[in-house]
Amino acid sequence: MNEIRTTAIVLAAGQGKRMRSNVHKQYLLIRDKPVLYYSLKAFQDSVIDDIVLVVGEGEEDFCQKEILDKYGFRKIRAIVCGGKERYHSVAYGIRSINWECDYILIHDGARPFVDDEIIKRVLDEVGRSRACAVGMPVKDTIKIADEKGYVASTPDRSRIWQIQTPQAFEKQLITAAYEKMLAEEKELPAGGVTVTDDAMVVEYFMKIPVKLVQGSYANIKITTPEDLKIAEVLI
Ligand code: C5P
Repeated sequence: MNEIRTTAIVLAAGQGKRMRSNVHKQYLLIRDKPVLYYSLKAFQDSVIDDIVLVVGEGEEDFCQKEILDKYGFRKIRAIVCGGKERYHSVAYGIRSINWECDYILIHDGARPFVDDEIIKRVLDEVGRSRACAVGMPVKDTIKIADEKGYVASTPDRSRIWQIQTPQAFEKQLITAAYEKMLAEEKELPAGGVTVTDDAMVVEYFMKIPVKLVQGSYANIKITTPEDLKIAEVLI
């Protein structure tokens, strides 16, 4: 039997507007190292074969020198320029994979606390389910609000998960899902549901069930200034 090959796409092309900082959030420092360093290190040290790094326009050289060369991340097979929305960045990352690959893991570069245990659980599950996403059961009660800010409903908390990354898929499945989405992008409801993760694309365009896998409460996404303070403690 052929050996299974896996590629991780690490996304670092976001503007990080909610961070209110001149430096993009993936380059902010936690204990003297950029957020992106920790995300890449987890995949570099794992069983993943190759990594695609998706960066903002004009940031390719900076990333190459200041992160890849500096820390010796040898699994990076391609540095790709991202797009306007997260889903554009993912699509460009997927299109760049022209080497042998069975499964693709997609990860937010702004989640520095992904670890080997999570990566192993995801790889294990994607082999069974074809599509999976890590997350954790929510701790707070969640309410759906109406347009005026009143409670419209209170869903059963025991079945609500907050979704994280990595999310993993069979290569053909996620490639077909994203190509379909880009082809139909203009027909997506304007101002309607925003595409915020990859599982959504597979659910919607491929009608394939996506299995949930346990992540960790520490697998936070650095989004607002207080997340950096939490990260300093978690590190
Ligand atoms: O904006 P959000 O917090 O959902 O971003 C999640 C991840 O996706 C971040 O790591 C960010 O750098 C990345 N991203 C991207 N291209 C975009 C928007 C976000 O690579 N256009």
